[in-house]
Amino acid sequence: MSLIVQKFGGTSVADVEKIRAAARKAIRAQHQGHRVVMVVSAMGKNTDRLLELAGEFGPNPPAREMDMLLSTGEQVSVSLVAMAIASLGSRAVSLTGGQIGLHTDSSFSKARIRSISTERIEKLLDDGNIVVAAGFQGIDDDLNITTLGRGGSDTTAVALAAVLGAEACEIYTDVDGVYTTDPRLLPEARRVDVISYNEMLELASLGASVMHNRSIEFAKKFGVPIHVRSSFSDSQGTMIVAEQESESAPVSGAAMTPDEARVTVLGVPDIPGKSLQIFSAIAERKIAVDMVVQNIGDGGKADVSFTVQRNELETTLSALEPILESIGADGITHDDQVSKVSVVGANMANQAGVASQMFRALADAGVNIHMITTSEIKISALVRRDQASDALRAVHRSFKLHETPDDAKSWSQIKADREAEGVEVETLISRLRDDALEALTLTGISLLDGQARVTLSGVPDQPGIAADMFERIGAAGIFVDMIVQGYDGEDGSTSVSFTVNAETLEASLKVANEIAKSHGMRAVQGEAGIAKVTVSGIGLRSHTHVATLLFRTLSDNDINVEMIGTSELQVNAVIDSKSAEAAKQGLEKVFAGSLY
Ligand code: ADP
Ligand code: ASP
Ligand code: MG
Repeated sequence: MSLIVQKFGGTSVADVEKIRAAARKAIRAQHQGHRVVMVVSAMGKNTDRLLELAGEFGPNPPAREMDMLLSTGEQVSVSLVAMAIASLGSRAVSLTGGQIGLHTDSSFSKARIRSISTERIEKLLDDGNIVVAAGFQGIDDDLNITTLGRGGSDTTAVALAAVLGAEACEIYTDVDGVYTTDPRLLPEARRVDVISYNEMLELASLGASVMHNRSIEFAKKFGVPIHVRSSFSDSQGTMIVAEQESESAPVSGAAMTPDEARVTVLGVPDIPGKSLQIFSAIAERKIAVDMVVQNIGDGGKADVSFTVQRNELETTLSALEPILESIGADGITHDDQVSKVSVVGANMANQAGVASQMFRALADAGVNIHMITTSEIKISALVRRDQASDALRAVHRSFKLHETPDDAKSWSQIKADREAEGVEVETLISRLRDDALEALTLTGISLLDGQARVTLSGVPDQPGIAADMFERIGAAGIFVDMIVQGYDGEDGSTSVSFTVNAETLEASLKVANEIAKSHGMRAVQGEAGIAKVTVSGIGLRSHTHVATLLFRTLSDNDINVEMIGTSELQVNAVIDSKSAEAAKQGLEKVFAGSLY
């Protein structure tokens, strides 16, 4: 008999009537012949209320007690849902995270799932029950209650679907699917029929809060199809699967994280090992860092900038301040009035002009870009917080995300194609350890040699410069790979670096010099003999130790990292060609245990 997991978010169980409606959906699925596991979130805004209550006792309540408190929200709703099912004449048993044997590590408030024991659930299902599992929570080795992080019920649901071999995981929520961007922010956003795991993982990690990003890691590793749909209607929603909607559209979605913070460590000695010190101190606190940019300044000193979520700024600063002296840095600055706007698309890697189109859209909207980082599947720009909504609207419009691409495929077409071609969705299930479900999963380490880097410094910090620069480079027929624009503490100017194929270095420098002249920039510098090492896998940014291990390996081999670009699927480091082979071998060695 097929098994189905149905997850109901906070608004979908916000009151008695909604709980009844959720119960009816589960009973109906059971009557249709499925075994049904429900995963339920806390009612309405209950988790927020509990957080407020805790706040009454000061800003930093003990982490263990916080998880103890927050887990009660889900305990209330599972019992009520089970009662509702009973009142409608069916059988249900509610279970806490501990009772379903969902074991996690001990990182309170962001615990990772290690293992889930399925016997009890299966026995209850065999006996004809609907199992109602509490989302968002687990227990550690000492039986402490842990929680998975805000929005974590999605991860409970997809993880259960994965280990129980469910046919599908249905996510019932207050929108009728995944949109090209948050429909609450942009009414013109379009509901998509299908989105790929890779795109959704990246979008979720960049602010599309409709799915908890870690749930997509499970879905991808185990090949679980996710159906995101409205709890208030029966209409078809969005399928999150291996395939993408379009094979040509450069961008499939845009996302925004309104509350970001930029941190810059000033005057870091430009020698291997310094980035390691900075990023390992932050990773130890399990803080995910994004948009890492290094500006090589005068006198062998660099400014290292990166972004964190604003609510983690204080912890980040407190991790760094005590070690500034041992790093040999001059100081630290931050800006907490910034937002990150990103575009994501599986097809962007092999298309020219995607970045410049985004920069042009921002320039035309009068939005100034503070920082830029790119990866194979996304481009992020850091902008002023009060310009973030305009920025999101501008890029959404520019990439025509409100229109269905001509070659868009529906879920039914994709399913038909799969059958016709006998396609099996690739998964990593057979190779994963069942006591390390959320462990880092890498799929490869590769090397791209024959690259060159161009750096423009003293780039005026005003709208339109990045657009002009990359349009002119594009017009010269030069294909740009990575782009990094950094914040330059001193005079408000920024510096921009990008990589190109070494064969186009000369042409790139010619254009760069013209650009520098027309915008009054300080200097242009080019370097051939550059290589890019790429670590590929699933959930790389959220596994905060990946960056640490990367920096450690390179520093141990005396290799300087010139540029870095990260996504959930890849970490790319630009280094000197001469060190490339050593870097690759070093990385293969440290990551051996995580390669699947
Ligand atoms: P739940 O409580 O059901 O888990 P969430 O509030 O976590 O619901 O997620 C649903 C919300 O996610 C929507 O109301 C919507 O505002 C927001 N959202 C953000 N990005 C997107 C997107 N790309 N598509 C759909 N919804 C999105
Ligand atoms: N109740 C938790 C939260 O509000 C978990 C969830 O809803 O997914 O974050
Ligand atoms: Mg949610």
